[in-house]
Amino acid sequence: RTVRHVIDAQAAERPEHLYLIAPETGRGITYARLREHSVALTRYLLGRGLNKGDKVSLMLHNGYQTARLFLGVMYGGFVVSPVNLLSQPTQLRHVLDHSDSKLVFVGADFEQRVRAMLKEIRRDIAVEVIDVDAEEIFDPAAVPQVLLPEVDEEDDALLMYTSGTTGLPKGVVLTHKNVVSGGFFVTQAHQLTPQDRVLASLPLYHINGQIVTAVAPLVHGGSVVMPHRFSVSNFWDLACRYGCTWINVVPTIISYLLNSPDPRGKGLDLSKIRFCRSASAPLPPVQHKAFEEKFGIGIIETFGMTETAAPCFTNPLDPARRKIGSPGQAFGNEAKIVDPDTGRPLPPGQVGEMMVRGDNVMRGYYKDPAATAKTLEPDGWMHTGDLGYMDEDGFVFVTGRIKELIIKGGENIAPREIDEALLKHPAVLEAAAVGIPDEHYGQEIAAYVVLKEGCEGCTQEELTEFCREQLGRYKTPKLIRFVPELPKGPSGKVQRLKLLELQSPPSA
Ligand code: ATP
Ligand code: MG
Repeated sequence: RTVRHVIDAQAAERPEHLYLIAPETGRGITYARLREHSVALTRYLLGRGLNKGDKVSLMLHNGYQTARLFLGVMYGGFVVSPVNLLSQPTQLRHVLDHSDSKLVFVGADFEQRVRAMLKEIRRDIAVEVIDVDAEEIFDPAAVPQVLLPEVDEEDDALLMYTSGTTGLPKGVVLTHKNVVSGGFFVTQAHQLTPQDRVLASLPLYHINGQIVTAVAPLVHGGSVVMPHRFSVSNFWDLACRYGCTWINVVPTIISYLLNSPDPRGKGLDLSKIRFCRSASAPLPPVQHKAFEEKFGIGIIETFGMTETAAPCFTNPLDPARRKIGSPGQAFGNEAKIVDPDTGRPLPPGQVGEMMVRGDNVMRGYYKDPAATAKTLEPDGWMHTGDLGYMDEDGFVFVTGRIKELIIKGGENIAPREIDEALLKHPAVLEAAAVGIPDEHYGQEIAAYVVLKEGCEGCTQEELTEFCREQLGRYKTPKLIRFVPELPKGPSGKVQRLKLLELQSPPSA
């Protein structure tokens, strides 16, 4: 199926049902209007000289128009390419230059930056400034009444750049089949129905926000409440005011919510919220438990990638079968753990590279056949670049990325194991371990730690001692360094490799 099939089918089946609600204006879009808008947008873009397959970039906050444009561009057979609003100049330049976009829809706040960048890279890309709250951005009556191009499930739908955690963002090409499969797997995994309603707190310029909160509701005919951005101060108000039945977050949001007052203190009733989905980065078990205890809402941890149209692994809906510390079992796609050197499948309990195969797996990296060939095997299996093991029940436990593995004296050490040991200390807010060059062992462990407010009295010696108890002498970091914050990418993920660029730390 294509995004167009899904929109057409929902418009026919539940025309008056709300697809989206924009809380800032109170504006809503029914499925019938969504279809009309998508048809009109297709004709508008054709009228502007765009052809099927042309790329259209979006540089917009979440909102009424953003969701319409995101879906409408794909509906028309064009390829949508959302740009991360938090991109550093190097990333923005790369993405605008690399994507071959014909047109950028941009919010007024970003217009100057985009225009300046386009001049720099000498690209003649049309720029159209959008108010994401506007009812219409063009006159639907004035669009040419032309035939829409045919769209096939093997056609490209989305050109999405990865988070850039380990290098420059890579352009992932997802087909209509990939996009719809991603939404379908989310729907199936959580048994979502037209009665479900999600609070979309993640930006539509992330695969997670796109597939989980914009495409999945479309697939099951549910509704989405889409504020401009996540804000800890109105998160629960919105979820309750609009009767949301599930929420979708990343671990950083969980930690914001944990550090804010309990909304039930001001009389909000959270009992309608069936579950909280978490993905994009490892969720430390301490936070997982603290959230469930504080809010009484179960967390479903999942694992996803841009390359797999968001989902790959998910925990079961039944709370009794979920495993804390694991993003769950393969869902929708197949998965295996292989020896990174030989490619041979490994038995339960052994750490190796996680590989996946399924209808959600990307076509490849845009204009990068070498990277595509390294990542996708001819038989369809994809290298995730992540390390982990599976238990006897098929639950995966992610230990870290291959690129970030610490190898000390020939022994593989997962940085995450060190992080999590440190996080158990009451003074530690955030921790990230990396391998640093060492004459004797090849690599040694260095840990960068952010202390909680009011815990500045904690010393490196105290943490070293704590690590010895938790991890044993061999895995205790040789260096522990306090930093005011950890380097993070535009999606809030810790960029471990950037830690290495920090000045060589003084010895502990
Ligand atoms: P880049 O590929 O540009 O370096 P990135 O890999 O962070 O950036 P994304 O596609 O947004 O870009 O993120 C996918 C990655 O996020 C996965 O490969 C994995 O490392 C990590 N990830 C996602 N969910 C989880 C999870 N539940 N637990 C651990 N890691 C996760
Ligand atoms: Mg990646």
